[in-house]
Amino acid sequence: MKLQTTILILLTFFVFTEIQAQKKKTTPAIAPKSIFVAELLSKMTLEEKIGQLNLPTAGDITTGQANSSDISKKIQEGKVGGLFNIKSVAKIKEVQKIAVEKSRLKIPLIFAMDVIHGYETTFPIPLGLSSSWDIAMIEKTARMAAVESSADGINWTFSPMVDISRDPRWGRVSEGSGEDPFLGSKIATAMVNGYQNDDLSKTTSILACVKHFALYGAPEAGREYNTVDMSKIKMYNDYFPPYKAAIDAGVGTVMASFNEVDGIPATGSKWLMTDVLRNEWGFKGFVVTDYTAINEMVDHGVGNVQDVSALALNAGVELDMVSEGFLNTLKKSVLEGKVSMQQIDNAVRLLLEAKYDLGLFHNPYKNCDENRAKTEIFTEENRRFARKVAAESMVLLKNDNQLLPIKKSGTIAVIGPLAHSRENMAGTWSVATKQDLSNSFLDGLKTVVGDKAKILYAKGSNLDYDPEFQAKATMFGKEIPRDNRTQQELIKEALDVSKNADIILAIMGESAEMSGESSSRTQLEIPQAQQDVLAALLKTGKPVVLVLFTGRPLTLVEENEKVPAILNVWFPGSEAGLAISDVLFGDVVPSGKLSSTWPRSVGQIPIYYSHKNTGRPLGNKEGKFEKFKSNYIDLRNEPLYPFGFGLSYTKFEYSSVKVSSNILTKNGSITVSVEIKNTGNFDAKEVVQLYTRDLVGSITRPVKELKGFQKVEIKKGETKTVSFTITENDLKFYNQNLDFVAELGAFEVFVGTNSDTNNKTMFELIN
Ligand code: BGC
Repeated sequence: MKLQTTILILLTFFVFTEIQAQKKKTTPAIAPKSIFVAELLSKMTLEEKIGQLNLPTAGDITTGQANSSDISKKIQEGKVGGLFNIKSVAKIKEVQKIAVEKSRLKIPLIFAMDVIHGYETTFPIPLGLSSSWDIAMIEKTARMAAVESSADGINWTFSPMVDISRDPRWGRVSEGSGEDPFLGSKIATAMVNGYQNDDLSKTTSILACVKHFALYGAPEAGREYNTVDMSKIKMYNDYFPPYKAAIDAGVGTVMASFNEVDGIPATGSKWLMTDVLRNEWGFKGFVVTDYTAINEMVDHGVGNVQDVSALALNAGVELDMVSEGFLNTLKKSVLEGKVSMQQIDNAVRLLLEAKYDLGLFHNPYKNCDENRAKTEIFTEENRRFARKVAAESMVLLKNDNQLLPIKKSGTIAVIGPLAHSRENMAGTWSVATKQDLSNSFLDGLKTVVGDKAKILYAKGSNLDYDPEFQAKATMFGKEIPRDNRTQQELIKEALDVSKNADIILAIMGESAEMSGESSSRTQLEIPQAQQDVLAALLKTGKPVVLVLFTGRPLTLVEENEKVPAILNVWFPGSEAGLAISDVLFGDVVPSGKLSSTWPRSVGQIPIYYSHKNTGRPLGNKEGKFEKFKSNYIDLRNEPLYPFGFGLSYTKFEYSSVKVSSNILTKNGSITVSVEIKNTGNFDAKEVVQLYTRDLVGSITRPVKELKGFQKVEIKKGETKTVSFTITENDLKFYNQNLDFVAELGAFEVFVGTNSDTNNKTMFELIN
């Protein structure tokens, strides 16, 4: 016994001293940041400095071969500051080793990836996430993505993407948080906090990158990368707020956008990168270009590669993603006096400071713990959370006669080309997702239903009639294999399958790559082949539920008219099938609300709730045409579904809005409240939305602006009072001189279930 105790003590001592030794080995004491970085800078040659400003992709590095790759040579020569698109601890460790053992100054690399909506555990596409209006939950998704990716070697993500967009033709609406600056700003802040977690040196923190600065979501005609031309008042009031919110939250990096702004490509715009970002907003981190954006300025027509590289650096851009314009021309530009040494030093300093903050000089292998990689990624717990998040993001667009929720009994026919495609569940920009282990709708449905109901399945149609279109819409491993049968044969099979069903679930819409980067569309309908099956299914007279996959608002006029129930599920992520089933069967009551307006027709675009009034507003809301008023002769003005819209399985009744006082003084506050009663049969959540209207301004003001929202849980039969506080600050906007002010006078305040509410009262802002 005595011997055992002695051995135990000795062992404990040994383990303790070993841990201490390890700690010393991995966290050497180094000088404070400014001294450390200044000393390092003083040792660097001009070539090494320029090398730090280069961010290539990892290319085809395979484990065990990093040394022989082309990139390895560059790393050894000090010509690489960081790498992106490299996955796994093993590979990252190997590449980092080259940097810290074989390059002269042993400066560690930073490793980036597009961790956009989760890592291996994938959450709904960002547009879906934003529809949850659950800011704490969204922050938790970013936190979880940071934990997973940091466990796999990553220390920097190119997220959040906060580009406001009011044009669903643009494919990247799927990656953002919709049309509204207020909601977008809340989400931007939450994502930055989730990724960076207060302190970048923590093992599970990763550097965030707000993108794409600026105005990338407003390209002319919705065509990808196209020109942006916008008034400064609109920029500051509607499009800038989410970027600024991310800066205020301390985001470490910013990505410049591809588009031009006011005649200058953003990547070369000193006004954006220095005047606004740093001088006005106080940004202290570094700016990275988007993919090859420096070289692309040659096509924009603002100079040759040397000119545009100098333009970018002088504008305030520090890191060159993939172009190698900096690498190949900056030395020449220094020698020719086109850029200053001070400008180069400043850029390098910002990059080194970020690496210091991340703790990479203390431990370059900070994120290379194999054990974390094995235990912290795609865990059961994370997947459970992803299932919950996905269900919270879905939006019930229609539900005639309470068709939903359905019962786990009888025979259920599942029809549609998206019903059994694991590849398409995660949506666009999900580079690390585990496609093979995710569940398709059919997988999830079968798991949830077990043997309680009979499930029959038929594909119904291809994604689209046109195989070429289908190929473009299913790139990057998101295949939906084409069925060589004719459409008639496919429909016949679908009808045979549906014959004995009690209910038909039509699983249709866009494939994952129909939205996302470089997926602009001129028509926003469900592809014709799917529409035709849907029409055939409706003809059976059986109840049909449309489970809609989409990465953008679609023009669903006909479906909205003919299909009794429509559940919009976006692209729900790893746990798609389970989460959709949870909602269909009522295990989760839908509570998502649209974060963008859904038009009736492409011709209405851009369409958004916070528009201005015009001098000839239409006097009716019924869509009746009036000559010489602001309307169309062939379509009504109203959208199909307004911003903030989403149904529930229960019913909520709102009392009229009350204010604690009709007078708000400049340094005071008022309380706005409503009572909401759940009069239906389900406990459920409701997103209560508050809007204001500034009735008279020094510039024209929107007809409504979101200024607050709360997601509250209300049990059936229960009544809850929901209150909001309003202060002068909530009423501020950028005026003609771009001063951020609140102007005295009368305001309307609305509280309701979506932006189309007329439940309002008034107050006045006085001195
Ligand atoms: C996209 C960025 C992305 C980058 C790196 C670009 O094409 O516009 O959003 O972060 O590629 O993958």
